[in-house]
Amino acid sequence: MQNMSAATPAEAWKKLREGNLRFVEGNFTQPRPTPEQRAALAAGQSPSSVLFGCADSRVAAELIFDQGLGDMFVVRTAGHLIDTAVLGSIEFGVEELGCSLIAILGHDSCGAVKATIDAVDNGEVPGGFIRDIVERMTPSVLTARRLGYKHPDEIGADHVLETAKLLLSRSTIIDAAVRDGRVAIVGLTYNLVDGRAIVRKVIGDIGDPDVVEAIEIQAD
Ligand SMILES: [Zn+2]
Repeated sequence: MQNMSAATPAEAWKKLREGNLRFVEGNFTQPRPTPEQRAALAAGQSPSSVLFGCADSRVAAELIFDQGLGDMFVVRTAGHLIDTAVLGSIEFGVEELGCSLIAILGHDSCGAVKATIDAVDNGEVPGGFIRDIVERMTPSVLTARRLGYKHPDEIGADHVLETAKLLLSRSTIIDAAVRDGRVAIVGLTYNLVDGRAIVRKVIGDIGDPDVVEAIEIQAD
């Protein structure tokens, strides 16, 4: 499939990184779209990145990366948990829209992480389909604990890494796109207080000299 956005993974990452820095500093460049700009986009979309993040209301994707209409293909679930509709949506972004970057976005003080830790430690399993959230996150919490992470934010950061691995193992389309260099994956955690998206994991080449090695999570 042609890369319709025509952006390389490095260019797509540069857009997000620079947008997040503007957000952190409060220097927004994305004005509210005019009716003319909105109408111009109706003919088609060519976003350069897929943003797959937690649904938390404080982690609003376009705002924190200072992006506009048509810039990002956004998929969000509580705890950025994966099901088949999520996989299909991300595959659509990559294969049909030509997105060259998949950014996975977790954050500190994540309610889905906390609920899963409560379920694992205290047997407090929520009802309804919220139970599904906890069940899907439990393997990440157990893996993080095995690696020595204790703080919920460390466990949440490790869950971003697990999510990246799961995307590749579940989706042959995403795996193939990453292997042939069309797409890169960057795992990020967002800091609620200072607004910064920190790189935790890179799979592929995002061409960022500042991210030679992904920042490792410190076990306490
Ligand atoms: Zn969350």
